[in-house]
Amino acid sequence: MTLVSLAQATYVVAAVLFILSLAGLSQQETARRGNILGMVGMVLALAATVVLALDSSERSALTTALLIACVFAIGAGVGVWRARTVEMTQMPELIAMLHSFVGLAAVLVGFNSHLTEEADAVHQVEVFLGVLIGAVTFTGSIVAYLKLSAKMKSKPLTLPGRNWLNLGAIVVSAVLLAVYIATGSIVPLVIMTVIALALGFHLVAAIGGGDMPVVVSMLNSYSGWAAAAAGLMLSNDLLIVTGALVGSSGAILSYLMCKAMNRSFISVILGGFGAEGGTSSAAGEQGEHREVKAPEVAAMLEAAGRVIIVPGYGMAVAKAQYPVADMVAMLRHHGVEVRFGVHPVAGRLPGHMNVLLAEAKVPYDIVLEMDEINDDFAETDVVLVIGANDVVNPSAMEDPGSPLAGMPVLEVWNAKQCIVFKRSMATGYAGVQNPLFFRENSAMLFGDAKAQVEEILTALRVSEGASA
Ligand code: NDP
Repeated sequence: MTLVSLAQATYVVAAVLFILSLAGLSQQETARRGNILGMVGMVLALAATVVLALDSSERSALTTALLIACVFAIGAGVGVWRARTVEMTQMPELIAMLHSFVGLAAVLVGFNSHLTEEADAVHQVEVFLGVLIGAVTFTGSIVAYLKLSAKMKSKPLTLPGRNWLNLGAIVVSAVLLAVYIATGSIVPLVIMTVIALALGFHLVAAIGGGDMPVVVSMLNSYSGWAAAAAGLMLSNDLLIVTGALVGSSGAILSYLMCKAMNRSFISVILGGFGAEGGTSSAAGEQGEHREVKAPEVAAMLEAAGRVIIVPGYGMAVAKAQYPVADMVAMLRHHGVEVRFGVHPVAGRLPGHMNVLLAEAKVPYDIVLEMDEINDDFAETDVVLVIGANDVVNPSAMEDPGSPLAGMPVLEVWNAKQCIVFKRSMATGYAGVQNPLFFRENSAMLFGDAKAQVEEILTALRVSEGASA
């Protein structure tokens, strides 16, 4: 067996490992194994790619090896530095940024292919589509990065006739494809690239508030298709397979998130198609809110039989998951039934809360999805809403003008007592005031979530010591 055929066989093994990796990532219990399989697959894929590059390069083996080593050193250096310094709360924007790199790579590969290769019509279509998808992914991901890092407002950009603008961009691109195939000139390719860059910007800028999670997973899908297109242009089978895996799993995730949020898949992909951007009647404060202090909450928890904790983005910001896990262990030890209710879009990336709770070693079997727990709030004594806001906002169900309207939420207000941990009366990600804070059975526990939970823990320990 030659080294080249061994490298090709390695590609097949890597592809199988990627599939197993995705299967492992579908469940918390097997996610760690899924990650390891993916990493092994990537090491094999890189090794095989180097072998194939050395074999097919027109340069000397030494020059090619040096070029590859330089690229590796830069990529691995930046990757290791970012992975070590990134805060968990910055993960979504980092992912958005990485998607933009995939898009940019597809654009560059496309132009390189146009400039250096003799192309037949099929290859021209590959180049054109690769650049188109890559350019849309590039600017779309940059807008997502800016929105997720709060450098740009999450409010949707609603240009007049925006759906026609999108449709026009697609029709003009189709005409440019025909011109490109007929003439082989770079001009239609360049014009389409400019249009696709604008389209990517507009598609994501038009999506706002609570719909951003779907955009993140949709861009994940686009980046997969951009990689698959680059694979076609480079005739790299593994890149095609891997791109298709990422593209289709991202599309499935987007579909599932749309279903969970009661949004139309088509309308979100088309950039808020049909969204009217209604004005909320829930703006501003809505009456008096009540405040409690940590020791009072500790007393309520001790007296409670059933408790549900609803975590949100604020728990991630405060890194409160560790004292929360300690508090849960202590309450369970005293016979209180404690469970978590996790909304599909809580936090800033799909599965964000599950990752944090797993990190703090909260048992998986007490972490329930919204659909599994929503009917149980009525029989619950105390709900602790820890740094969540939009995902417990009743206006999503009660106010048709709200930007959150139609999104299912955790119905925490049905419990006997609901304690909301946050630092102020500020709104959540979607910028909508939350009527929950002004309900009779709600009380606010102001302050950093981690400090407040630690104070509750201290009070519980004091009371345990006193009764021992
Ligand atoms: P929200 O962003 O709606 O609210 C978070 C709350 O946490 C804020 O009200 C904030 O209030 C509070 N908070 C922040 N820091 C702290 C702290 N240190 N201590 C205590 N409280 C704190 O979060 P949710 O999880 O409820 O909702 C997620 C939102 O993000 C949804 O709108 C979702 O659509 C969107 N989104 C989700 C993505 C995903 O994939 N999951 C991706 C992109 C967007 P205060 O400032 O007063 O403390």
